Amino acid sequence: MEKEYKRILDFINVGIYYVDINKDITFWNKSAENITGFKSVDVICKCCAENILRHIDDKGVELCIQGCPLGETLKDGKEREGRVYLHHKDGHRVPVTISITAIYNEKKEIVGAVEIFTDITNNLDIIKELEKLKEEVFTDQLTQVGNRKYAEHVLEQKINDWETFNVPFTIYFIDIDHFKKINDTYGHNIGDSVLKMVAKSILTAMRPFDTVCRWGGEEFIVIVPNIEKSTVKPVGERIRKLIENSWFEHNAKTIKVTASLGCSMVKANDSILGIIERSDKAMYNSKQNCRNRVSIF
Ligand code: GH3
Ligand code: MG
Ligand code: MG
Repeated sequence: MEKEYKRILDFINVGIYYVDINKDITFWNKSAENITGFKSVDVICKCCAENILRHIDDKGVELCIQGCPLGETLKDGKEREGRVYLHHKDGHRVPVTISITAIYNEKKEIVGAVEIFTDITNNLDIIKELEKLKEEVFTDQLTQVGNRKYAEHVLEQKINDWETFNVPFTIYFIDIDHFKKINDTYGHNIGDSVLKMVAKSILTAMRPFDTVCRWGGEEFIVIVPNIEKSTVKPVGERIRKLIENSWFEHNAKTIKVTASLGCSMVKANDSILGIIERSDKAMYNSKQNCRNRVSIF
């Protein structure tokens, strides 16, 4: 009967191995061979602590040395689950989910443990693929900053942080001055290069937890959390000056632009539409006052 069970276990699509109380491996199924590259004859009667599988966690900690889950279960009989990277015979790491259960004799004494492990390489590929897609959906392909969808997503979060935790934020609406003239004079490709340059200049002016997005055409918005009232204008000036002082050469001509900025702080009962409209109005104010200027709503 035992033989029958072992035959069945060989057909199962997950790696299974048994260890006795000394952590010597007593059973190793076919899937364990396939996932790890180690044949049953390579491992049977060897102690798993001889570092055949050398489990490490996602921080690179060697679990055979520190906190071997199998050893813990042999001691306390508790079931354990986790995600680790095991060592393949060819050297590379294989991501697996493991679950460990103690084995008891008739006297209810722990006599060993069984570890079941599943190769999750493909799941990780799917997760990476999804993350890449998510990034693409939220990125402006020309300038590589966030797109409008991303800006709206972040604004929703910030409004929520404001309402729930009272964390304020400010937004800057940035519109390139006389951009149409750049396109008309030098062509659309140079226009595109200018948009990339401006996006980079804005990024340079900001800290890592600020959000820079292309709102559309030649308009950008920046979302800055937790900013003091007295620094709202200086931050806007920093953005404005960095744009003004960036240029590149094209056919012996210096291509540079300026931008008009409008900013607005979040207020009670605010909405995405409300704060965007106020900063847009302030930006329009800058346009009417000779452009290349920062206005606060
Ligand atoms: P103002 O100072 O009043 O803002 O003038 P402006 O010329 O910047 O404003 P306007 O809105 O008249 O022109 C914006 C131009 O931006 C028009 C449009 O063709 C151009 N534009 C929008 N998207 C892109 C793009 O992706 N690439 C390029 N090269 N041009 C773009
Ligand atoms: Mg515009
Ligand atoms: Mg413009």
